[in-house]
Amino acid sequence: MKKFRTLVLSILLSFAVATAAYAAPQVILDGQQLSFDVPPVIENGSTLVPLRVIFEALGADVQWDGNTQTVTATKSGNEIRLMIGGAAYKNGQEVQLSVPAKIIEGRTLVPLRFVSEAFGCQVAWDGTTQTITITSISGTGTIKVHFIDVGQADAIYISLPDHNDILIDAGNPSDGPTVINYLKNNGMDEDLELVIATHPHADHIGGLPPIYYAFNVIKTIDSGMYADTSMYENYLYLSQNEGKYWEVDNYQTFTFGSVVLQIMTGPGSWDNVNDYSVVCRLDTGDIEFLFMGDAGFPAESVLSGELDAEILKVGHHGSRTSTSAAFLSKVSPEVAVISVGTGNTYGHPTLETLQRLQNAGATVYRTDLNGNIVITTDGKTYNTAISKTSTADTPANNYKTQVTPAQTPATTGAYVGSIKSNKYHYPSCRYAKTILPKNQIWFADAAEAQAAGYVPCGGCKP
Ligand SMILES: [Zn+2]
Ligand SMILES: [Zn+2]
Repeated sequence: MKKFRTLVLSILLSFAVATAAYAAPQVILDGQQLSFDVPPVIENGSTLVPLRVIFEALGADVQWDGNTQTVTATKSGNEIRLMIGGAAYKNGQEVQLSVPAKIIEGRTLVPLRFVSEAFGCQVAWDGTTQTITITSISGTGTIKVHFIDVGQADAIYISLPDHNDILIDAGNPSDGPTVINYLKNNGMDEDLELVIATHPHADHIGGLPPIYYAFNVIKTIDSGMYADTSMYENYLYLSQNEGKYWEVDNYQTFTFGSVVLQIMTGPGSWDNVNDYSVVCRLDTGDIEFLFMGDAGFPAESVLSGELDAEILKVGHHGSRTSTSAAFLSKVSPEVAVISVGTGNTYGHPTLETLQRLQNAGATVYRTDLNGNIVITTDGKTYNTAISKTSTADTPANNYKTQVTPAQTPATTGAYVGSIKSNKYHYPSCRYAKTILPKNQIWFADAAEAQAAGYVPCGGCKP
């Protein structure tokens, strides 16, 4: 009977493989499967994929010239040019392609291998699973920071060379298994060198207890903030169990080879639990990451030391009371990652915060729109890969088409400012009246305005 079942199973499997040969191939970039609005096609052994998805995933800038039917993409000093149905160029040199870029069902498809290799990626093809694996950065010094999509919660996995692994939060209780699977699928060994529990809210520590069972957690750092919940008690017990190393944040420095993780926070006293969040900065060489937990204006305003970072994990899911303009001017992020759930009841991320990020020149990625967000770096340059593409043109522009009533910014308050300046006014001020509605930003009180980096108008003296 057993044999018979095995036979049936293997017939089913071979049938599945045979069927898969006619299905669209899968494309995996830096461990993340890309999803396409129009399926990739294979022609003469070349795979063509929708232009927008692949260039967005590779982090290239794209321009389209309708007159000459030419696509130009640039990334890290390399330029490729593709003419629909015609020639291809890399940095001005013509490259022979077996299949040119073409338009199918109104979408432009480009040859995957050519564009990936032109931008320095390695491309591997597995015929049995019909999978194309693209590696954007290779080598032993590769660092990956995974912002895992756990909905309205935080879970960040930092994978460092030599199997050094760090986990910052693990989402809600129901996210524990998701996080465990994610870590296992992304090369985690059994040792988890460092867990950072930013603060005792359920959307941050809820998923941690099963992590302590699944992996050998060597050290835990938390905020020292207590919560009167069984979830917190359970987390605390497990993090200190069996002589495990547990410490409260106190400006510690952790060195893993050439990579340094600096805890930026220490003992403090705050009104809001979120402000107790352990904040840390990962220095990989030329590329830095700043992880804010749920810290709000008060906590971010007292951070000191080097705060500049190419990549900012935005505080408190993009809440309006985090990520002030003054703070952003110290960080000057190129990329801002918001961990946030679709249709959350908090209205996160708020339009004010998205506007401040846009004003600061940051490209915004969001787990609700982009799924898992993985940033890979060798310490000199970095790539951003996403597991899901939304319908908007670029991640930075996503929110413009995604605004729901819950995200409508406040249109009243004690004071008003303009996103184009750093002054705040009484609404009756003659300057205030010249601010276009789309540029208005409202503040409940002077403290909120000042925390956001605004100063009083000299005219109305609010
Ligand atoms: Zn939170
Ligand atoms: Zn919180």
